Amino acid sequence: MTTKPLIAITGASSGIGAAMAKRFSDAGHPLLLLARRVEKLEALNLTNTLCRAVDVTNPDVLQSAIREAEEIYGPVDLMVNNAGVMLLGQIDTQDPVEWKKMFDVNVIGLLHGVQSVLSDMKARKGGTILNISSIAGRKSFPNHAAYVGTKFAVSAMSENIREEVADDNVRVMTICPGVVGTELIDHTTDEQIKSDYADWRESIGGALEPDDIARTAEFMYGQPQGMNIREVVVGPTRQP
Ligand code: NDP
Repeated sequence: MTTKPLIAITGASSGIGAAMAKRFSDAGHPLLLLARRVEKLEALNLTNTLCRAVDVTNPDVLQSAIREAEEIYGPVDLMVNNAGVMLLGQIDTQDPVEWKKMFDVNVIGLLHGVQSVLSDMKARKGGTILNISSIAGRKSFPNHAAYVGTKFAVSAMSENIREEVADDNVRVMTICPGVVGTELIDHTTDEQIKSDYADWRESIGGALEPDDIARTAEFMYGQPQGMNIREVVVGPTRQP
């Protein structure tokens, strides 16, 4: 019988989400892990964990996975809205389908994640929502126009929601990571931009590890419910 509360993580099939899953599992939390590639969630092989194939752009499927996990493990105490895509491109040539995909997943998908737990957290007068924004939610970078749009939106929405639910004792937190070594860049379709990104990453001494962000999340969540570390910006020391 577990005593630690349930944590739900979107985008847990790789990178930062998978690192958070491992870290929170090691700390004894039951988990609900969500992503489209359910086989990668299952391959993490974590105990007390429910893995469900969920596309965050589909609120009904997301909601039913949350309810299923809550029936087994009790209420979600931490909802990590981490699922995201980064498709770098120049606005004059980039396929608008890529802009829409980023806004659908990074912005609307994140709102679905917030909505899936918020009413219950407000009713319980407790709980934490952790949204993964980006340093690109604070400043701009070359070829990032649509992506920074999504991440500025995540940072702004998170602050607004934080104020909206503060009286209900629900914490809303944001992490804005700098560059982290994950699959994120792999989905960019412009090969020149991908190669320039790799060179730039090397020029600043490399990326953070996914567990660096997981450790940050664990620290933020681990503070008392009456204390909210609202936002952390964390990146490689040499990153501009
Ligand atoms: P990864 O590409 O390794 O992970 C992205 C995760 O999002 C995967 O698990 C993927 O799972 C999931 N995902 C993508 N689309 C969907 C969808 N429609 N529905 C559900 N899940 C989805 O990258 P990171 O770990 O780096 O990214 C995690 C978050 O961190 C993102 O929000 C990203 O913007 C942010 N971030 C990353 C930085 C970096 O340098 N790596 C820097 C700043 C922020 P699947 O494909 O199985 O669905």
